[in-house]
Amino acid sequence: MIRFDIMTLFPDLVSFVLGESVIGRAQKSAAIKVCAHNIRDYSEDKHRRVDDTPYGGGMGMLMAAPPIYNCYEAVTKEADAFFLEEGKESVHRHVIFMSPKGKILDQKKAEELSHYDNLIILCGHYEGVDQRIIDEIVDEEISIGNYVLTGGEIPACILVDSVSRLVPGVLSADECYESESIACGMLEYPQYTRPLEFHGVKVPDVLLSGHHANIEKWREEQAVALTKKLRPDLLCKEEKD
Ligand code: SAM
Repeated sequence: MIRFDIMTLFPDLVSFVLGESVIGRAQKSAAIKVCAHNIRDYSEDKHRRVDDTPYGGGMGMLMAAPPIYNCYEAVTKEADAFFLEEGKESVHRHVIFMSPKGKILDQKKAEELSHYDNLIILCGHYEGVDQRIIDEIVDEEISIGNYVLTGGEIPACILVDSVSRLVPGVLSADECYESESIACGMLEYPQYTRPLEFHGVKVPDVLLSGHHANIEKWREEQAVALTKKLRPDLLCKEEKD
């Protein structure tokens, strides 16, 4: 089981996204735990302000360090107490800042992260966060791609989803991730379900043959052909690895 603690200014956004479908079910079955914490609750300002203008001038507002640090302290305390109750005295923890400056998330990174007990994820907003908070509490900055979003909440949900799928008990046996695109080092073969014919196109005969070896062979050939066509970089990477 992994416990995810998400520090954000928009906890309802992440709770909503991660409360549905497979990840929502995984939370109900306690295969994972997701806690969203509102950084604003830890502001010491009487108007609950969490941002300020950057020193040296420039556009926009920055999330200030004190509320984030107060939130982080409360979250680690709460998570430690949770794990202690579960009988775990030492917690394997990793603190991530979702940031366009980070290393880009891939399947290998998701697998690596799936071995932690506790992932604390900081979501930036506005122009980002005070550098001192990154230097003091963050172990790693992770980006979800070479583009800039308005906030770290959607990236955090993507990270939680990609890691959670690898946690035992989250996917059922027939939803196994190992044969899926990327995880298996290639793209997945094309798949079909009923009806047998759709808009004049029939399901390939081999899939109806009941001949398992031929089906396996066909799927492998399709996977290689599709990867060559759409993501040749994955095949080059396999050769290098
Ligand atoms: N000024 C920052 C910069 O140039 O690096 C960008 C700030 S961005 C508008 C606001 C927040 O959205 C960031 O602090 C980060 O948490 C999140 N964010 C934006 N793009 C992201 C990406 N590609 N991956 C992960 N997080 C991202």
